[in-house]
Amino acid sequence: MYTLQTYEKKGSLQLIKTIKKRNFATQFMSQTEQEFKNIIAHCKEYGFVFPSSEIYDGLSAVYDYGQTGVALKNNLKSYWWKSMVQLHENVVGIDSSIFMHPKTWKASGHIDGFNDPMIDNKDSKKRYRADVLIEEFIGKIEAKINKEVTKAAKRFGDTFDKEQFLATNPRALDNQKKIADINARMKAGLDGDLALLKTLIEDLEIACPVSGSKNWTDVKQFNLMYSTQMNATSGEGDDALYLRPETAQGIFVNYLNVQKTGRMKIPFGIAQIGKAFRNEIVARQFIIRMKEFEQMELQFFVRPGTEMEVFNYWKKNRLDWHKNLGINPEKYRYHDHVKLAHYANAAVDIEYKYPFGFKEVEGIHSRTDFDLKAHQEHSGKKLQYFDPELNESYVPYVVETSIGVDRLFLLVMSEALQQETLESGDSRVVLRLNPAIAPYKLAVLPLLKKDGLPEKAREIYNDLKFDFECYYEEKDAIGKRYRRQDAIGTPYCITIDHDSLEDNQVTIRDRDTMEQKRVPISALSTLLHEKTDMSGLLKRLG
Ligand code: ATP
Repeated sequence: MYTLQTYEKKGSLQLIKTIKKRNFATQFMSQTEQEFKNIIAHCKEYGFVFPSSEIYDGLSAVYDYGQTGVALKNNLKSYWWKSMVQLHENVVGIDSSIFMHPKTWKASGHIDGFNDPMIDNKDSKKRYRADVLIEEFIGKIEAKINKEVTKAAKRFGDTFDKEQFLATNPRALDNQKKIADINARMKAGLDGDLALLKTLIEDLEIACPVSGSKNWTDVKQFNLMYSTQMNATSGEGDDALYLRPETAQGIFVNYLNVQKTGRMKIPFGIAQIGKAFRNEIVARQFIIRMKEFEQMELQFFVRPGTEMEVFNYWKKNRLDWHKNLGINPEKYRYHDHVKLAHYANAAVDIEYKYPFGFKEVEGIHSRTDFDLKAHQEHSGKKLQYFDPELNESYVPYVVETSIGVDRLFLLVMSEALQQETLESGDSRVVLRLNPAIAPYKLAVLPLLKKDGLPEKAREIYNDLKFDFECYYEEKDAIGKRYRRQDAIGTPYCITIDHDSLEDNQVTIRDRDTMEQKRVPISALSTLLHEKTDMSGLLKRLG
């Protein structure tokens, strides 16, 4: 059977093409797989995301962003950066290197502990993360509970009380108990006894998605860091050099540099956007799990003892930030970690309901003083902060927020991409992106390619391009051009017709409502600033 995993094997898009050719796609795909497949295909067709080195058949779990993709990605990064650095007077940014001294990773615990519990299927020879297989199994039980809830909600109508149903319905209770039992067993396995994970997988009768067999190897730990060499002259650089698996450590080792030179007073934060690399064994779910990806991280340094208050502040702040983009709030949930990482005393994930189910998009972790103390020990340098209010020195505690740009990108695409049937019976594909993050804010379109209309249109384009990302196009019928702009999420199209030459007015078309109205050319700039500026989005955050 062709599943998502199958067409991730080579680089999704390549295989989707093959599936399409054989006309298998619709035959074998569930509705959600179909929806996901549509998003991947749209990303390819409209220049958002391409498989890496596609002419060589792609590289598993590595992707490139195209012309529209990079614009959307940059706008998402800008929304994050501005809301963190510009809106918080006690947060500043840095850009640290991907390579760091090898001791960094010893201190951080990554050399000894950045492992995933992996299990191989002996028949397909595919390798999986044991905890992910179990979590997917839990996801199926959750789906059963949700189905019962939907059925009951229909039966009872307005009088339906979801919480009461979950607390009393025998089947729902039974399924909730199953989930709790599985979670408890998984935690015991993750806490150290890997044999328990294998037994759990066998007891749950989990089959390999590719071969369908239950013929599993033992579970083994596998380190996720990529190592390389410094190319040092003899005597130097005997230690392996690693590509950073997270951006956080670059912030920790620079924390005192920033604190001193920026005259920062605790509590304060350091933000960073950058690439991270993980040797993820199973290439799955498009840009959700990549070997090279981008993170946006904030490390917030606080007085010991205040970390839970700060953790709760960021937990709420981050979810509000997501919702402010206009994303359906019901598609989010918090997920408390079953097993806390070695450095954390509290951790929560923000999960989004992607077409294939709920998945972490962001993590908020209270990292205690673990990292700074470890770097202090391994470097032999004091990393204490002198608190003038308390008149004492201490190693600060840290609360982190960490979001993957690529998972955010897919979230935004999943939410925005819609297929609509119009009153006329026609259908259109529209990408309802918040205007502030759309790749282009407007398209300038002369109605015809003659009679002085292109010249007038160019005049407008050349005037507006200094303030807005503009798209200019004069090829094809106007209806076709509108559809193309809808598909890449351009919120406004401006059409220049013969009347424009006389009255200096143009038609502005709204992507979402498709309403068209005449406006003076002189009013365009103010109108577009009002509707598309990032500052509008930021102001709503307060
Ligand atoms: P997962 O459990 O899904 O592997 P994680 O808990 O290891 O994720 P973190 O180490 O907390 O992830 O990293 C912070 C964020 O970085 C995640 O919330 C996610 O958005 C992003 N991220 C992590 N790994 C990847 C990856 N391989 N590809 C794309 N994004 C990733």
